[in-house]
Order: sequence, then C-alpha cells, then structure tokens
Amino acid sequence: MNAGKTTSLLQSSYNYNERGMNTLCFLPKCMSVSERGQKIHSRIGIDGGATCFDESFSFCDFVNGDVTRDKISCLLIDEAQFLTKLQVYELTDIVDFMNIPILTYGLRTDFLQNLFEGSKYLLAWADELIEIKTICFCGKKATMTARVSSDGRVFNSGEQLAFGGNESYISFCRKHYKMSLERGVALVCEDQ
Ligand SMILES: [Zn+2]
Repeated sequence: MNAGKTTSLLQSSYNYNERGMNTLCFLPKCMSVSERGQKIHSRIGIDGGATCFDESFSFCDFVNGDVTRDKISCLLIDEAQFLTKLQVYELTDIVDFMNIPILTYGLRTDFLQNLFEGSKYLLAWADELIEIKTICFCGKKATMTARVSSDGRVFNSGEQLAFGGNESYISFCRKHYKMSLERGVALVCEDQ
C-alpha cells in the first residue's frame, strides 16, 4: 500500500497521451465505490477516467468493440490483483495477437500474505516485473501488508476483500509484520 503504484499508472497514461497516443485505463468495480465514480485516484491528488471491470468482464471483447481500437497504444489496469486467471490470460492474448502493450499495477499478496489470484498469474505470465518499493518504519523494504483496525489491532483472519469498514492497511518489512501479528497491534517503532 502507499507505494505510489496508482500515481505511476496515471503518469504512464499521461506520457502516452502527451505524445498523442490513446490509452484505456481500467479499475475493478469493487474499488470504484460510488463516491469515487469511474475514476482512478492517486493519493497525491491526480486522477483519471477509467472503465470498471468485474470478474465477468472480457477485456478482449471490450477492445474488439472499441471503434478506436486501431489507435489504442496501451492498456493500463489498476488494482490488477483483482483480475481472474482467465482475464490475465486474455490480457496476454491482447499483447500477443493484437500487439497492444499492457501495464498492470497491483499488490502481490493480501493482508494474510497469500497471493491474490490476479497477481499469481501476472507473476507467472508477465513479460516483465517491476517492483515499486515502499518502506517499513525501520527503513527496510516493506514486503508485507497488515490489515489494521481503527484502534490499531492487527487482523490475523478475515475475508480477502473488506470494504466499508474502518480498517486500514500498513506496510511492514517481514520481521515487523511478524512482530505486529504476534503482539496483535501494529508496531510504529522498534522498541514498542
Ligand atoms: Zn521493519
């Protein structure tokens, strides 16, 4: 979380548009709750229009049905961990047979450190992987994300998707994730 992946997506889209090239941006329906609308928002305040997808959405059908298909230079997908296996495969078809590059941005694992389905197959099939780094409070690279309640408790179980609650997500290095989980509270410094 907070690694700036959405900002990177919007920057990439902007770079294409600046050179007169068209992009299509996508966001999972589950992440576009009504007050946010069909827009991708980054935490530094820039946003961009997006098409929502759910698990029954076909990217091939969507691109094939787009009248400006020949002018699409890139597909960009935010929160790509929520793609299904079939959708990731479809994306490889778009790259391989329609010659449209695709950039996907997402989390590798959920708050229990299990791979998301989309991430699993992106890790397996993508041409290139780029890690956007974020930092634990100790300064080490954060590789784990904890789901934390409003009073600082760390969840050790629950559904992979949780919306509408007061929980937030905090990035930790592996050691401090383990220590937070063991103590049941999200650490904020080494000597807590
Ligand atoms: Zn740490």
